[in-house]
Amino acid sequence: MHRWNPRRSPARAGWLAGWIGCALWGALWAADVAAAPPAQSATPLRVLATTTVVADLVRQVAGDLVALDCLMGPGVDPHSYKATPRDADRLARAQLVVASGLHLEGKLSELLGRLGRRLPVVAVADALPQDKLLELAPGLYDPHVWFDASLWAGCPAVLAEKLAGLDPVHAPDYRRRAGEYAARLQALHGELTTQLEAVPQERRVLVTAHDAFRYFGRAYGVEVVGVQGTSTESEAGLNDINRLVDLVVERRIPAGFVETSVSDRNVAALREGAAARGHAVALGGRLYSDSLGGPGSGAQTLEEALRSNMATIVAGLGGGDPPATGSPQP
Ligand SMILES: [Zn+2]
Repeated sequence: MHRWNPRRSPARAGWLAGWIGCALWGALWAADVAAAPPAQSATPLRVLATTTVVADLVRQVAGDLVALDCLMGPGVDPHSYKATPRDADRLARAQLVVASGLHLEGKLSELLGRLGRRLPVVAVADALPQDKLLELAPGLYDPHVWFDASLWAGCPAVLAEKLAGLDPVHAPDYRRRAGEYAARLQALHGELTTQLEAVPQERRVLVTAHDAFRYFGRAYGVEVVGVQGTSTESEAGLNDINRLVDLVVERRIPAGFVETSVSDRNVAALREGAAARGHAVALGGRLYSDSLGGPGSGAQTLEEALRSNMATIVAGLGGGDPPATGSPQP
C-alpha cells in the first residue's frame, strides 16, 4: 500500500522551505510534518536517500517500485553537509528517509533525529551487528561500512523490511531483490579479497585524504593511513602531515591517493613534504570514498566504485611490478 499525504503537497513544501530559511526547524517538524493516516494510491513511495551510496542501495533493493531522490549528489562530503532551504522541500515530500547512519551525516544527525519522530527514517548501518564495526571511541563507530562488501551486504535486508512495512503490496519484491543484491555483494567481496595479493606485502599501505578506508583495509588486506581523521570535520594539523611524511619516507610508500569527495590539499602537502625529504610519492589515483561517481564515471553503483577503487589501488601501489629499488616518480 502506498502512502499519500495531502498535507505534504508541493505548495505546502514551498511554504516549509521559507520557514526553514528562518531557521524555525523545531516548530516546523513539531507542527507541520506530522504524518496523516495513509491513503491508497498508485503513486510510488517517495524515498529520499542521504548519500549516493545509500541511493544506490535503495535502487538495488527497490528499483522502479519507489520514486527515489538523493539529498547529496556525487562528490558531496556527507560529514560536513548542511541542509539547505531547498532540502526542506525534498524532505517534506519524502515518505521514507534512508540514511547511512553511525553519524556519517554529522551535521544532519540532529535534523534526522527530529525528522524520525514525524516520518519513517531508517539509518541502515545502525542496524549492523556492533561486533562487526570498528570502534573509534566507546560507543562511537567508524561509519564507512560500505567499503567492506560483505558487511554492507547486511544492509539490503534492513532496508527491504522497512520498505515492506510501508508498501506491503511489494514486500515480496523488496525481499527478493534484497536477497539477490546481498548475494552479489558477497560474490564481489570474494572477488576483491585476493586482488591485493598482486601488490608486494611491504607496499600494501593505502595513504588517503581522510580515514574512510579502514573497513576496506580490514576486509581486503591493506594497511590504511588517512591524513585527516575518520571525519572530515576535524582539520589535519601540521603535526599530522609531518607524522605521515615520516611514515611514507621511512617505509618508501610509492603513492598516495586522493578522494572524490574530499579536498586534495592534505595529500598534496604530504607529497610536497616527502619530496623535500628526497622521496617522491606518486599520485596513485582518485578513489571514490563517501560518494559514488556521477553519470559517465563508470562508478555510479557501489559495486562499480569498489571495483574501480581496487583497480586504482593495485595499479597505484605497483601491483605486478618488481619492488621499487629507488624512489618512484609521479
Ligand atoms: Zn568519510
